[in-house]
Amino acid sequence: MALTITSECINCDVCEPECPNQAISMGEEFYVIDPARCTECVGHFGEPQCVQVCPVECIPVDPDHTETREQLQAKYERLQLQALPRTPIS
Ligand code: SF4
Ligand code: SF4
Repeated sequence: MALTITSECINCDVCEPECPNQAISMGEEFYVIDPARCTECVGHFGEPQCVQVCPVECIPVDPDHTETREQLQAKYERLQLQALPRTPIS
């Protein structure tokens, strides 16, 4: 599952730089997680980094984005491929 940020968020800015997938950004009122980019940190770390640093524990799993560990791993691999620099074909 991707994680989600609730309205308890105090916009402390701590989680955003910790995300290895650039999945966290400022939303209209508080920070949000892009479920297309959140792998629960699978592929990078053993534990979700945002959850580790959040001082108010407002980052639960998102029941609307249920994924298996294999699906999260596949998402991680897709994101890694997208991040590769593209070499022009000559
Ligand atoms: S669990 Fe990991 S990948 Fe998902 S938003 Fe938090 S830091 Fe980013
Ligand atoms: S660490 Fe928690 S409180 Fe701070 S910005 Fe992130 S979600 Fe909000």
